[in-house]
Amino acid sequence: MSYKKITLKPKKEESLRRFHPWIFSGAVAQKDSNLTEGEVVNVYTANNDFIAVGHYQIGSIEVRVLSFQERNIDAAFWKEKLNTAFSLRKSIGVVSETNTAYRLIHGEGDNLPGLIIDIYGNTAVMQSHSVGMHESRIEISNALIEVLGSTLKNVYYKSETTLPYKADLGAENGYLVGGKDVEDIAIENGLKFQPDWVKGQKTGFFVDQRDNRALIEKYSKGKSVLNMFCYTGGFSFYAMRGEAKLVHSVDSSAKAIMLTQNNVELNFPNDSRHSAYAEDAFKYLAKINKGDYDLIVLDPPAFAKHRGAIKNALQGYKRLNATAFEKIAPGGILFTFSCSQVISKDAFRLAVFSAAAQTGRSVKILHQLTQPADHPINIYHPEGEYLKGLVLYVE
Ligand code: SAH
Repeated sequence: MSYKKITLKPKKEESLRRFHPWIFSGAVAQKDSNLTEGEVVNVYTANNDFIAVGHYQIGSIEVRVLSFQERNIDAAFWKEKLNTAFSLRKSIGVVSETNTAYRLIHGEGDNLPGLIIDIYGNTAVMQSHSVGMHESRIEISNALIEVLGSTLKNVYYKSETTLPYKADLGAENGYLVGGKDVEDIAIENGLKFQPDWVKGQKTGFFVDQRDNRALIEKYSKGKSVLNMFCYTGGFSFYAMRGEAKLVHSVDSSAKAIMLTQNNVELNFPNDSRHSAYAEDAFKYLAKINKGDYDLIVLDPPAFAKHRGAIKNALQGYKRLNATAFEKIAPGGILFTFSCSQVISKDAFRLAVFSAAAQTGRSVKILHQLTQPADHPINIYHPEGEYLKGLVLYVE
């Protein structure tokens, strides 16, 4: 297939030689006329050597690279990429009867910039972050059915809020395949939950906290647990299986509280150890007494969505963590997270360190947490690392 052509300025191919998958507009010398956003383009160096093929887009990133080899982006390409990703998920043990929820495609981490696919039982939820992926959605969905086989019955497409702009791109939310025999219960490490990809945030459940939830289970025995920013209650039902004495789940969204109650009930019906409250985190933390909780989870939404918001976000993390340090019982365990991609591991750690220093309590780092293996980081794209967490012992 002869795709349209983009030519780089001299020496601007260096990051591509190191397999970084983005081409910024400043690197582009020339492009064919009539390029439409989302179409596949071949990229050449100033010496006219082929260097990459990818999706063209309008904006500061002009091309998201799909391959560094000259090849067609066709049904065979999608099938190969999905197969590679599925093999990885099988080999890391997240595809099983006791775990039916996992991320199959994690954008750049799976060499498919702009594409997210999460699997919940017999349904795939697919999300495009680029027009190129949006344009390819039917081909990708067909390849998905081939690769996952008869276990996959439905493909739900959900890109209404993730595409770069609201253009006339056709229906953005809805089933591309199936939509009838949807298994409504998914399983994570043997625990049940009901993902709501239609109305819920993102693809319906945060599968990225699976390993960190498993860790909380080990720390919960006999503890009073506060799961702050609980969303669908993931940390709560693990703490309950870990024999927590009581678990309180808090989220400012009433809908999230309903989802949490529902998921806890699925696993632990009529269990009086659990209560859930729709309240603002800062207000809730302000009113509790020191020592009410032995284990606190802080998993807030991304405080910084872009670089300009970093400073305020760090202050937010500091303020939030300082309150938790003040209130947690002596000998308490704090699980604290940041999912802001623009906040580095070091910056987050410094904010938590400053919060601890402000309260004067003795604090030890027990674990440093990150995203799980089904959210891999492409070594050539370190920006893909976004989830950071610390497990702290507070004397
Ligand atoms: N811990 C969750 C994911 C948290 S997502 C899990 O394991 O799945 C972040 C959550 O924070 C969202 O559900 C959002 O509704 C909630 N939230 C946002 N601002 C808040 C605030 N000020 N107080 C309490 N909850 C808030």
